[in-house]
Amino acid sequence: MDTSGVSAGGGRSSRWPWMSSCALRSPLLPISFFFWLLLAAPGAWASGYQTCPTVQPDMLNVHLLAHTHDDVGWLKTVDQYFYGIQNNIQHAGVQYILDSVISALLVDPTRRFIYVEMAFFSRWWHQQTTATQDIVRKLVRQGRLEFVNGGWVMNDEAATHYGAIIDQMTLGLRFLEDTFGSDGRPRVAWHIDPFGHSREQASLFAQMGFDGFFLGRLDYQDKNVREEMLKMEEVWRASTSLKPPTADLFTGVLPNLYNPPNDLCWDVLCADSPMVDEPRSPEFNAKQLVHYFLQLANAQGNFYRTNHTVMTMGSDFQYENANMWFKNMDKLIRLVNAQQANGSRVHVLYSTPSCYLRELNKANLTWSVKEDDFFPYADGPNKFWTGYFSSRPALKRYERLSYNFLQVCNQLEALAGPAANVGPYGVGDSTPLKEAMAVLQHHDAVTGTSRQHVANDYARQLAVGWGPCEVLLSNALARLSGSKQNFSFCRELNISICPLSRKSARFQVTIYNPLGRKVDWIVRLPVSQGIFLVKDPNGKTVPSNVVMLPSSYSKEYQWELLFSASMPALGFSIYSVARMTGRNLQAHKMQSSSPKSNSHVLAIENEHLRATFDPDTGLLMRIENMDQNLSLPVNQGFFWYTANTGDAESDQASGAYIFRPTWYQPQPVSRWAQIHLVKTALVQEAHQNFSAWCSQVVRLYQGQRHLELEWTVGPIPVEDGWGKEVISRFKTGLKTKGQFYTDSNGREILKRRRDYRPTWRLNQTEPVAGNYYPVNTRIYITDGNMQLTVLTDRSQGGSSLKDGSLELMVHRRLLVDDGRGVGEALMESGTGEWVRGRHLVLLDSVKEAAASHRLLAEKVVLAPQLVLAQGDGALYHAPAARRTQVRQFSGLRRELPPQVHLLTLARWSRERLLLRLEHQFAVREDSGRNLSSPVTLNLQDLFSGFTITHLQETTLAANQLLHRASRLKWKPTTGPISYSAPSKLDPTSVTLQPMEIRTFLASVQWKEHS
Ligand SMILES: [Zn+2]
Repeated sequence: MDTSGVSAGGGRSSRWPWMSSCALRSPLLPISFFFWLLLAAPGAWASGYQTCPTVQPDMLNVHLLAHTHDDVGWLKTVDQYFYGIQNNIQHAGVQYILDSVISALLVDPTRRFIYVEMAFFSRWWHQQTTATQDIVRKLVRQGRLEFVNGGWVMNDEAATHYGAIIDQMTLGLRFLEDTFGSDGRPRVAWHIDPFGHSREQASLFAQMGFDGFFLGRLDYQDKNVREEMLKMEEVWRASTSLKPPTADLFTGVLPNLYNPPNDLCWDVLCADSPMVDEPRSPEFNAKQLVHYFLQLANAQGNFYRTNHTVMTMGSDFQYENANMWFKNMDKLIRLVNAQQANGSRVHVLYSTPSCYLRELNKANLTWSVKEDDFFPYADGPNKFWTGYFSSRPALKRYERLSYNFLQVCNQLEALAGPAANVGPYGVGDSTPLKEAMAVLQHHDAVTGTSRQHVANDYARQLAVGWGPCEVLLSNALARLSGSKQNFSFCRELNISICPLSRKSARFQVTIYNPLGRKVDWIVRLPVSQGIFLVKDPNGKTVPSNVVMLPSSYSKEYQWELLFSASMPALGFSIYSVARMTGRNLQAHKMQSSSPKSNSHVLAIENEHLRATFDPDTGLLMRIENMDQNLSLPVNQGFFWYTANTGDAESDQASGAYIFRPTWYQPQPVSRWAQIHLVKTALVQEAHQNFSAWCSQVVRLYQGQRHLELEWTVGPIPVEDGWGKEVISRFKTGLKTKGQFYTDSNGREILKRRRDYRPTWRLNQTEPVAGNYYPVNTRIYITDGNMQLTVLTDRSQGGSSLKDGSLELMVHRRLLVDDGRGVGEALMESGTGEWVRGRHLVLLDSVKEAAASHRLLAEKVVLAPQLVLAQGDGALYHAPAARRTQVRQFSGLRRELPPQVHLLTLARWSRERLLLRLEHQFAVREDSGRNLSSPVTLNLQDLFSGFTITHLQETTLAANQLLHRASRLKWKPTTGPISYSAPSKLDPTSVTLQPMEIRTFLASVQWKEHS
């Protein structure tokens, strides 16, 4: 990792900005101090702040932050890091770090330490004796051990979906709340290593109740400007919809990433000299180190506005021998402060991020406001960390799919009540998948920046987590349908594998819809050849087709059954499928594209859309939205950038983190595609084959208002010695003025401008990689009238490098490492070689666009879950009056309005549920249907399966009651903020403002169990 230290030069001669302001204000000090006392009334300072160390008001206070950065998997797996296995790869053992730190803290009450990752801490905690636990509780109460951030992991901010971020923070903060109560509640968010920072993350942190946020990595040009302009610390206004200060978060940039200053690393992993304070020793260096430290502190203080500054004393997996660090810092503090007798104005102390933040707050300054985000991140010219937006696309999809499955699991656990956990299929449990999903949010997990064996272990953790959720689903479905079946989950449907549907002549499909509104959907299942009769829950035959798959699609299975299904809100429908016998009917075969009636038109269409293909090239040529009378020429194809391995301009190679193409122009995978069309009553498809390793199905289902592009890419050939980064590119004539739009963690939208940054004059060194942004769920371009939106099924990097064009990186395979520590080329040999995914394309008028993409994105993220069964199961737990299987069920008494997304419905404790409702539109985003307006719900009788007996509103991560939560107040340059207390909660009338998420803990009684 980059460890460029803070320059120590020029300390004496340079101006201390804090000094002048302090000197000016010193006569007022008693007044502000009095004001401060008022603020310090109970409730104003939550627990933690009272235990902060005293500072010297008229000196430069250097807060030493003793910390360790423990990656939840990177070069080693989570378990290898925890136990200290494979120290030949990297010397790191988290269990020893925690053992060692606790002992070292007990030596001296002034020592302090912070800890971050609950995935590790909770594990260590459960292995301790009660005596040790008591000691740790005391250290926490006294503020000597402080938890910061407190998520299960320190999550990535580019490739993560907001729902998964909230879940992982909730899991970690819940452990702290259950274990330490308010003593352990973090006040500060701490993302010192993620590779760039999203605006949504700041918004979420603010809504979780954090008082401030510290980060380490930002663009090197941005950092230089901030140091000069004294904007290392600002108020981040992280939402354009939420009323300030709801999404305002005080944000500080740490001086030196998260590392100690040069020559002051006293860990067993470092080689810096310890403090030798024995003057007679030939190794005596204390005087010199003290002098160096004073220079360093003063130089650093120049970049910050108050008379306080921090030094991060620690780094990756440090403090395995905490005594080394603390012993030397003890000496440093003693010797530096002794210089005050000689006129030094520097005071150094053990502190924590929250104690530092409290001093910044007390300074009572007016802070500038940031409204954009910190993407993309570059740590030098030509060094853009935009490759990881797309690295390991298969793992990124598996993570998103697991998010979907976990929400289904959580919902059914809530809807079925205790019957979901213990039932005929055994013990159902959502915890393992919750924990695995939380681990996947780590900044080396879903990012794709771990070693290969670690990536494999992440996938293993997800797979293990699915098992107990499948048991839970089986128990819940048996209870809710009153029928005990031998359920089959078909985890490999994405590659068209499902033995039950393939082999059975008759079977049942239970389709669960996790959205708060009815969903119509086309089900696809691999079958053997034949004609099938599909019946809906009422026994009515529904339209179905069998289509043959292209040979590139699946090696084993050739036929897929399609039928249209409809599922009620938060519920399921059971369809039955039976193969018709005694008739030798041919399934619908592929219809060749050989021109017949119209030799120049190759098109697929339904009642809403038409997609036309160029008969000469086989490429998409035009999209028409017939409902809105829009027509746009769109050329789409696949290209690849040649990965740079270092050149004359820079030795920077493209790798797992970094994207750096050799040439700015990508090569086409092929200039044309073999194409044939498949048309049935339910679907029209254009099958395009670009090369042996790249194909696509362009698809329009009956009734669908979007075009689906299902691409299959890999294994990317690299035998020619070139690493390749494959993109799908859409070219239109839209006049987009250098602008495009991307989502932030799947929620609010940010406007991007090519070769431009909102807060500094950019010196662009990489015209391609330096214009890439994270796309979690969508990217769009518009000319002010028409909007072309592409939704993704996982996180990818994307950009618009020319007006009217839009591209997404779908896969990458690289031959060399990019020098950021992972030490492996991103070859993905094995499971990640071959990747399939979907882009959903919308063409809308600007007026209609938000309604289209918001409502579609929610269907992509929370897609229906299929569960198959033979259909011959026995009745189970059915009341005497009910003699048959319940074939349709809804957990809601009425559908939610389109503005409202049911973000979380999960078991919280024996009789409590966690409920999150979200307004999924931004202010002024939808003008067509007025979906940006506030919406009011009655929660009291909303759910059918249980009664809410008591409802409490909490902060976003559910670790504090909303009416008791308070945050530090900051004065932004944009003017005064009006603070309003939360209004009294009325469950019969809960209003959601645009982009608002409200979190509740509901005490419930399940109907069937009361
Ligand atoms: Zn890290």
